[in-house]
Amino acid sequence: MKIHEYQAKSLLARYGVPVPRGIPCFSVTEAVDAARQLGGGLWVVKAQIHAGGRGKGGGVKVVRSAGELEATAQQMLGMQLVTHQTGPQGQKVARLLVEEGVDIRQEMYVGMVVDRQTQQVALMASAAGGMDIEEVAAHTPEKIHTMQIDPGQGLLPSQAEALARRIDVPEALVGQARDLMLGLYRAFDENDASLAEINPMVVTADGRMLALDAKFNFDDNAAFRHGEWQAWRDVDEEDPNEVEASRFGLSYISLDGNIGCLVNGAGLAMATMDIVKLYGGYPANFLDVGGGATTEKVTEAFKLMLGNPHVQAILVNIFGGIMKCDVIAEGVVAAARQVRLSVPLVVRLEGTNVELGKRILAESGLPILSAANMDDAAAQVVAAVRRS
Ligand code: GDP
Ligand code: MN
Repeated sequence: MKIHEYQAKSLLARYGVPVPRGIPCFSVTEAVDAARQLGGGLWVVKAQIHAGGRGKGGGVKVVRSAGELEATAQQMLGMQLVTHQTGPQGQKVARLLVEEGVDIRQEMYVGMVVDRQTQQVALMASAAGGMDIEEVAAHTPEKIHTMQIDPGQGLLPSQAEALARRIDVPEALVGQARDLMLGLYRAFDENDASLAEINPMVVTADGRMLALDAKFNFDDNAAFRHGEWQAWRDVDEEDPNEVEASRFGLSYISLDGNIGCLVNGAGLAMATMDIVKLYGGYPANFLDVGGGATTEKVTEAFKLMLGNPHVQAILVNIFGGIMKCDVIAEGVVAAARQVRLSVPLVVRLEGTNVELGKRILAESGLPILSAANMDDAAAQVVAAVRRS
């Protein structure tokens, strides 16, 4: 799960990480009020979307008067903000963060991810922070320093200090940078984050370390122990198909191909996508209907796949272990009828009562292409797309 910058900053503040004073706003009036409350004569208006690269896309503006602030808020709210992370259609801006402006001396990068290779949290930092960090990572990766954190010990103050020195934090501020990183690590660890980023972490003109931007992704598997995530969630930022799928207990991920895949079991779903690609096709989605797929669930799954205008054929790949193939076949037939299936459907069934299942499909009168095995299924569905 992803959250907005203003939510990430309020989380960091709880762990003692210094952030600029700021107020989230949902309207122009609220933005004008926010600037008045913050006082001063310099503010930053920041579009709140779950994607980075806002600065380059026009989603971060420094303003110097109430009039300028009002005009900027007016222009930003409701805009389709396009960044290199949103795709060409962009993301609609419905929330702003109005912050006190900061006089920046130095911009640095600090980030953390769960590193599956080492089974530890990797802490990364660079003196070359700011809006070009992607280019730094691509062209001069040696400018990004990485440190592994032992999960038993956590981030050590000595490690944080060493890293601060490596990214050119002025000596007088090494203590502040260390405490900032220790706070970031505690926030990451206690909140089951999978990724956290402060970019830029800045040195201000008046000699303070400050987290000027903040990003957090959480591990969805830990949702049960973080009640507050429910309030942080912003479904407007999520793929509508994935939100709909989660309501029915389906694991669905949108992809950019044209072959809809309906499978039971995550491993089989992965293998199905692999074999579709091996035969030269492109999956339109990952979809695991789970072990106890009912007719209702299968119907919803069909609706989801057919709601995607790119889908030109559907591959159903089911192993009937706990579930029986005849029950699955009945579900597929009922679902195909209900949604008035308009694209070729290839079904590969295997497992308990498979013969009965195949007979139900054959006798349904629906133009279902029955596959003998996974190779056959992939070949048939790819051929069906080529014909259409
Ligand atoms: P991102 O592009 O989505 O990562 O958005 P950021 O929050 O990182 O903002 C982009 C850039 O805007 C930063 O790297 C800063 O250079 C600049 N910026 C953000 N806040 C301030 C501020 O308070 N004062 C000044 N002068 N620049 C700022
Ligand atoms: Mn940033």
